[in-house]
Amino acid sequence: MAAKNNEVSITWMGTAGVLISDSETGILIDPYVSRFGIFQVAFGARLRPDQEAIKNWKASLGKEIIKAVAVSHSHFDHLADAPYFAMETDAVLLGSESTINVGRGAGMAENLLQIVHHNDTMNIGTFSLRFIESAHGPAFLGRVPYPGKIDKPLIGPQSAKNYKLGQTFSILISHPSGAIVHHGSAGLIPGMYDGIKADVVLLGIIGRGDTHNYLQNIPVKLGAKCLIPIHFDNFFVSLEKKMRILPTAGFKEFLSTAESYRDNFELDILQIGEKAAILPERYRSRV
Ligand SMILES: [Zn+2]
Repeated sequence: MAAKNNEVSITWMGTAGVLISDSETGILIDPYVSRFGIFQVAFGARLRPDQEAIKNWKASLGKEIIKAVAVSHSHFDHLADAPYFAMETDAVLLGSESTINVGRGAGMAENLLQIVHHNDTMNIGTFSLRFIESAHGPAFLGRVPYPGKIDKPLIGPQSAKNYKLGQTFSILISHPSGAIVHHGSAGLIPGMYDGIKADVVLLGIIGRGDTHNYLQNIPVKLGAKCLIPIHFDNFFVSLEKKMRILPTAGFKEFLSTAESYRDNFELDILQIGEKAAILPERYRSRV
């Protein structure tokens, strides 16, 4: 029985969006498929989540297994679609009070909304999720975009600036097959990973500052065997088009710097929408 559930896979959805699943339970983190255009965002247009794209993604991900939708912080490119992913699957929405206020504004039932705090841990299927306070990277012109909190239900459609940051979390996802850290925004709090180990790190790239410092404090500190970069794609471009790298992501520099840590971890670049088996065997067998 246990053997059947051993394999854990990751499907990258672009940005910091992933589905992490075994054969019975799926957890969505930061799912964002509406991919609003840069002019809509920059000029304050009201952003309407793309319900058709959300439905299509849910179907292709296997919506019957999705039990929770967790959100790292409340910016639109992490949160705008999350309540809608949660609603049709009756999944619980997990996040800061700001995140939960967006769930409320979308019409989610209170029993499916759960505010999380630093170090809260919860069991979902055979997974356990622990929320760890983190910091947002200075992702736009050296500044953290849209700071502040969402302190009342946010009824849509809303412009990007109203998706205020709220708290920022990284998420430790533990499973009998191993542990994964989702680090969705490229800031950090020194010492945040003291005493924590992870096999796989999903690492947000945009706005990271010094790459050596970033890698040493996250994947190296965690003892990760595998590093998967996320949130380096140009999220103003539709998912129906070929993936492009965000010009400000410094992705080439990231790759060449990460290469110098090859004794520490393997770098793995996923394709958007491709389900990749990640634990427990994939990396063990390559050593
Ligand atoms: Zn953000």
